[in-house]
Amino acid sequence: MITPADISTAVIGRFAPSPTGEMHLGNVAAALLSWLSAKQQGGMWRLRIEDLDPQRSRQEYADRLMSDLEWLGLTWDGEVLYQSQRTDIYRQYLQQLQDYTYLCTCTRNEILAAQAPHESDGRIVYPGTCRNKQVTGRPAAVRLMVPNEDIIYDDRVYGQQTVNLATHCGDFILRRSDGVFAYQLAVVVDDALSGVTEVVRGRDLLLSAAQQIYLYRLLGFAPPVYCHHPLLVNNQGQRLCKRDRSLALGAMRTNRTAEQIIGQLAHALGLVAAPEPMTPEQLLPLFTWDNIPKQDIKIYEYED
Ligand code: GLU
Ligand code: ZN
Repeated sequence: MITPADISTAVIGRFAPSPTGEMHLGNVAAALLSWLSAKQQGGMWRLRIEDLDPQRSRQEYADRLMSDLEWLGLTWDGEVLYQSQRTDIYRQYLQQLQDYTYLCTCTRNEILAAQAPHESDGRIVYPGTCRNKQVTGRPAAVRLMVPNEDIIYDDRVYGQQTVNLATHCGDFILRRSDGVFAYQLAVVVDDALSGVTEVVRGRDLLLSAAQQIYLYRLLGFAPPVYCHHPLLVNNQGQRLCKRDRSLALGAMRTNRTAEQIIGQLAHALGLVAAPEPMTPEQLLPLFTWDNIPKQDIKIYEYED
């Protein structure tokens, strides 16, 4: 029998892919590392399909993803959560934040025009244009007011992070003007309500954790432990994406075994000395965050 005491101390990890394309080796790395970390601690591993954006998400990709995870031997615990079915929950939590939010009708171009080019390195920092405005007319997004304050947190791989939300992103969007709830809100609500204690994902989301930690604070939830991992890059040093066809799982499944793929990844991630075929179960006793490199990992396209 599970008692409340067990629940509060149990490790719960998760994998939260967006079904906007086929899985590639980079997604497999995120799934594998979060599975290994949770399972090594005797924890549970949950699967959540982040299909909030109806324009970009497809059930077909979600189905493929689940088939790929099963094929790899990365099995999840409990029901699969679909974000597209949880909009009533997000609405409720957005309401809870209403003292901290305001409506914004700015377009991307207006925001770019209002931003001094040297202010950020390519990021869009919202300058707060609509904070004290009564907006009407155009469809409005909902933004969260952020304090001019450092958010300080620890990452298991990258160490201590200090992010000032005011200069990093400014007031950020919780619901888009087309009514779609934003990733930042949904991820916090879902992880908190699922009891997730550990978030493992690519380092492209390392600084997003600051936005999420702020939301945890406002909603009165305890934030999880964050473990960001280096990105897998192709031979041009670019992050793997759908263009790297030979590293998409569909293509890899035609000429390689699951054990070969897990073995290659384990080797690339610094967990084993040679890329020998192995199952996730066999990798479990060898897994340690201490061996995961900080710098991005170059993966050479597999040629046959
Ligand atoms: N859905 C996000 C992605 O596929 C991951 C979100 C997360 O792990 O927090 O990039
Ligand atoms: Zn605005």
